[in-house]
Amino acid sequence: MEWIDNLLFTLLLGGGIFWFARNAAKIKRNINLGRQIDINDNPSQRWKLMAKVAIGQSKMVVRPVAGILHIFVYLGFVIINIEVLEILIDGLLGTHRVFAFMGSFYYFLIASFEFLALAVIIGCAVFLVRRNVLKLKRFMNKELDGWPRSDANIILITEILLMSAFLFMNAADGVIMSFSKLTGGMLMPEFAEAANKIFGENAVVGSGLYFPVSTYLTGFLPSNPIALHYIERGCWWFHIIGIIAFLNYIPYSKHFHILLAFPNVFYANLKPKGQFTNLESVTNEVKLMLDPSAPLPPADAPPAKFGAKDIADLSWKQLMDAYSCTECGRCTSNCPANQTGKLLSPRKIMMDTRDRMEEVGKNLDAHGPDFVDNKSLVGDYITAEELWACTTCNACTEACPINIDPLSIIVDLRRYLVMEQSAAPAALNAMFTNIENNGAPWQFSPADRLNWATEN
Ligand code: SF4
Ligand code: SF4
Repeated sequence: MEWIDNLLFTLLLGGGIFWFARNAAKIKRNINLGRQIDINDNPSQRWKLMAKVAIGQSKMVVRPVAGILHIFVYLGFVIINIEVLEILIDGLLGTHRVFAFMGSFYYFLIASFEFLALAVIIGCAVFLVRRNVLKLKRFMNKELDGWPRSDANIILITEILLMSAFLFMNAADGVIMSFSKLTGGMLMPEFAEAANKIFGENAVVGSGLYFPVSTYLTGFLPSNPIALHYIERGCWWFHIIGIIAFLNYIPYSKHFHILLAFPNVFYANLKPKGQFTNLESVTNEVKLMLDPSAPLPPADAPPAKFGAKDIADLSWKQLMDAYSCTECGRCTSNCPANQTGKLLSPRKIMMDTRDRMEEVGKNLDAHGPDFVDNKSLVGDYITAEELWACTTCNACTEACPINIDPLSIIVDLRRYLVMEQSAAPAALNAMFTNIENNGAPWQFSPADRLNWATEN
């Protein structure tokens, strides 16, 4: 590679990393718009949970077809990064297959990458068919109309293209290395050198020794070594430019879950499922009612908030949940409210929370920290009808492959409706009144509460 190529590559890589870091920092800033809470308890339990659920993909395989195909794509993403590392070093230093010094182990690695690349292509192709031809119900919900549906297809098609470029690059390289060895490296010495390192000085590199998957593509390639060289370089550049472009696409996409799924599971709720949190503001109020000598809050303390109206009232973990959501719809397909035709979809709750965060973040960038857009998560994004449809059954949290907790957001938004807006449905208001007056949800005197036990 000429020095101009190296310079171009370095600029491209530096620019790509800079832009990604800039957008990732904005996402971190947006997550930190949430309430600060401390989640540092039980580190060993958290590491185990992350190993099992995020790294081990234990909840993905509950649906075996999607789960196994997802594991192909996931392993492809993780392991092929070794190959990307080689491409980066080659691009920066102008070498060709810098890891070839590992000899037959290198050949083994590349062969494994090729099988993984094939598995990724198959996995993505099946996912595309499931979404666009079979039209699986959970991918047809209206919250996926427009950008979310395109986003999923863009990701899958990009992964197929990237892996195809990798295989065609190897196919062309295999033929060139063979040719270069046969001609003693007269035309392309760096390819002959790599071939010697991988296959050994005395090996005759024939088609049978080419890389195990890409060798089947050699029939589609020309025999002219110069044309082959351009194809190999073209695929190399396409592959790495595609990876840098993809890196910069993911902060705008649901695909950001490939980074956040791990910390998100680590910081997941470890409390028993369905256990509600106490609101500190309410606890303080109750303490003051029961015990007049309880310490008063400082006079200059900001007024206590009850529940969550907008993203700043949710915790950073709830906001991280929203950025981690893969929009897979497993929560919604398990939600009894959704199944019975009600308006609620826990996936939409997560998508709305993320959209609102993005909107607030853009406002901050454009108008500074004091800008108020007079919009909020409740009302402008999520309606009261959706919130009251929830049965608090926790099926959504149970089904989520990365332990996202839509219910906690629903409950906090409802608390706002009840305690700040007094906007609960009439039946609930009657129940609240009964609890307040009678100590039970029923309209009986507290003294009559156990009458049922003596009835015949
Ligand atoms: S907790 Fe609510 S949102 Fe979640 S599955 Fe149950 S009804 Fe649906
Ligand atoms: S919350 Fe979980 S289950 Fe629901 S769509 Fe997002 S990732 Fe899938």
